[in-house]
Amino acid sequence: MTNIHASIPTMSDELRHRIVALADQCVKCGLCLPYCPTYALDRNEAESPRGRIALASAMATRTISLTERIPLDHCLACLACESVCPTGVHYAELLDASRALLGPRGGLNRYLRALLTHPYWLRATLHMAHTLGARYWARPGARLLGSGSRWRAALMMLSESRPQARSKIDRRVVSRQATLKRIGLFTGCVADVLEESAHTALEQLLRQLGYHPVRLPAQCCGAMDAHNGAAKTAIQHAQRVHQQVATLALNHILTATPGCLSELCRALPETRVEDAFTFLDREGSALRFRPLHKRIALHIPCTQRHVAHSDAALLRLLARIPELDLQSLPAEPRCCGAAGSHFIDYPQRAASLRRIKLDQALALQPSQLLSGNVGCRLHLRIGLVEQGRPMPVEHPLSLLARQLDPQSTELQETL
Ligand code: SF4
Ligand code: SF4
Repeated sequence: MTNIHASIPTMSDELRHRIVALADQCVKCGLCLPYCPTYALDRNEAESPRGRIALASAMATRTISLTERIPLDHCLACLACESVCPTGVHYAELLDASRALLGPRGGLNRYLRALLTHPYWLRATLHMAHTLGARYWARPGARLLGSGSRWRAALMMLSESRPQARSKIDRRVVSRQATLKRIGLFTGCVADVLEESAHTALEQLLRQLGYHPVRLPAQCCGAMDAHNGAAKTAIQHAQRVHQQVATLALNHILTATPGCLSELCRALPETRVEDAFTFLDREGSALRFRPLHKRIALHIPCTQRHVAHSDAALLRLLARIPELDLQSLPAEPRCCGAAGSHFIDYPQRAASLRRIKLDQALALQPSQLLSGNVGCRLHLRIGLVEQGRPMPVEHPLSLLARQLDPQSTELQETL
């Protein structure tokens, strides 16, 4: 088996040396501080990138106890700091290595992580909860709890998460497409359960361009465990993805979830892995879209901006919808607060960041919001419900597919 995740050593001494070496790249200039959402929130050096790098280094050299981990736990892993750092500090690797040294947290975080990274369990749990009428009891139950309660955040998540069944594959269509170019579609774990409309939309756009999308089985890429200090579990997830891709003999994979991209690239060193928007922007010149006379606000997730680097590609694609009045939310603050499981682990901090984003969005008076990350979308939707201002929050792929020109769809049907 390929040695994936070789960049995150799992032995404690190796980890400590690696953390110190990574931290030594930082010249403590402080240029990253104005870009850090948690520094903006707390105005405290410990909650800044520079403070966290110093803390990680001190923990690695045993100068400070591992129990002083809170600022590292608070980090959103948004990577705004890494993008602006003039000396190229590898902050993402340093954070993952530091959290691996600290080890995963227990309690609700542990159970939640296990549930979210196992799509079959997640799907079954959500189905059971909604069969038992979660829409009637989850939201009222959440409101009985304090705003800082993790259980309140978890119940709100349950209330707003409806599992979407995987679309049935039409075998006749597949056989017609046997001569088309095969391209893999990685649907992940949470996204596999909650993002069916985005994945169906991507398949529709790909077929329009003459590709035959092949879905991988629902499987976590390992990102959530890697970001939460469970490095060994993350490696196991990544190895399963590697095996699936080898079994399906795929050499090109797309993902509609930018947060999965860096873990997939690590897991699949011999495979071309791309963000869906990057691919569609480059290969999709034949796509034609119908006009849409609407004002829509766009939230660009941190992972799309700093990991996938597909924000410009997305803007170019949406600009091809005639008459669309697209309003991008201001970059500040750079994170909505969702940040993986952060919005459940630290609901008040996450709500503070979200409030600023939603105020920006509502001031634009849009008819709906767009965001390409399932966690951001869920977090923003919960915030809109909490504020009594519900509105659709959709994946941009769903909008692009809905606006496809039907005439070019007819052309595709004849393939
Ligand atoms: S991480 Fe980079 S930008 Fe921030 S203080 Fe260190 S060297 Fe400066
Ligand atoms: S990843 Fe984001 S929250 Fe964490 S230190 Fe960097 S800028 Fe701040």
